[in-house]
Amino acid sequence: MSLPDDICPRPVFLAPGPTAPLAPPIHLAAVYRCDSPEQADAMLGGEESGYVYVRDGHPNADMLAEKCRALHGMERAAVCSSGMGALAAACLAVLNEGDHVVASNRLYGRSLKLLSGELPRLKREVSVVDTCDLAATAAALRPTTRLLIVETITNPTLRVSDIAALADLAHRRGALLLVDNTLASPAVCRPAEFGADLVHESLTKIMNGHSDVLLGLLCGGATHWDRVPEVVSTWGLAAAPFDCWLAARGLSTLAVRAERACANALRAAEFLSEQPQVAEVCYPGLASHPDHALARRQFGAAFGHMVTFTLRGGLAAATRFIAAAKGIPFAPSLGDLSTTLSHPASTSHRNLSSSEQAALGIGGGTIRLSVGIESAQTVVAAIRAGLSNA
Ligand SMILES: *Cc1c(COP(=O)(O)O)cnc(C)c1O
Repeated sequence: MSLPDDICPRPVFLAPGPTAPLAPPIHLAAVYRCDSPEQADAMLGGEESGYVYVRDGHPNADMLAEKCRALHGMERAAVCSSGMGALAAACLAVLNEGDHVVASNRLYGRSLKLLSGELPRLKREVSVVDTCDLAATAAALRPTTRLLIVETITNPTLRVSDIAALADLAHRRGALLLVDNTLASPAVCRPAEFGADLVHESLTKIMNGHSDVLLGLLCGGATHWDRVPEVVSTWGLAAAPFDCWLAARGLSTLAVRAERACANALRAAEFLSEQPQVAEVCYPGLASHPDHALARRQFGAAFGHMVTFTLRGGLAAATRFIAAAKGIPFAPSLGDLSTTLSHPASTSHRNLSSSEQAALGIGGGTIRLSVGIESAQTVVAAIRAGLSNA
């Protein structure tokens, strides 16, 4: 080879033109050039703003975090490499040895694993309670309780947390309320408006909305934020630039996607309620839902894009439904552009015994739809095809 060997490693810089790009650039750089030891020292010490190393911060993470922060109306936001990373960051930043956590028994399975499996190893105590029962929640709070953790809308029976009441309980005991807002998104609920101190979301779901990114978000007030940036960098929870760029692009259409998906979900729930094969439909937008009045107060006009229903014929009927509902992929996640379904008993809740599943309202015949942005007729036709076999 006769390549001049100093060409390859030399960066190529375009001279900045008089016009700026309308779409945001992707800053893939893992490291930035510093002018002087003095500048490097000031930036690494946090006295001067600027980027040095990608794990400590980069423009695409900051652009995405700023969008999310503004959507939630909170003071601070950080993007992490996954929703679980954001929950870990919250726990690591806020909890000290001996602190106690009260967690909802309906939390996302991995969240419960982190809280009840991992935190006790770090000498943080955890109690798991039914946070829909405010008296039981109040009784579980201790003088050492630092965090109360709930989800705005829980999976799969879509119970709604009374955020204002829970925030009040937590604050009266000197604890903070952390709300996982993944199933709602800020299009349906902004927990800070009801007193939540910290909000976390899996951006993997409807926020990005295109099933091509794994990312998480943590938002909070300035007073609880001191340790968050340090924790995100030191525990290696930072997000990659390209993922942040994709999620910022997905987020640009959240308002229209959520409006359409929520309207479709209401239509699907109403349709399912009228079908003889269906024993029960869970959707907070239906008057039959136990939290309908609360959902109206807290959400206004949109009740989310998840719909859960239970077939009379149990697991056999669910298996036949899934085989026949060709237009609805069985993909155990949520928040995609298209309608997908999950079967909680065999996926998200498979580690629970059947009596524990039953206590949460999950049976072999339970199917959870994540409703997408197809036309309402297409969604209903796809459900009808599944039911024809169930
Ligand atoms: C998916 C999900 C998480 C975890 O998010 P990841 O991005 O998968 O790590 C947490 N909470 C809820 C409610 C979720 O649906």
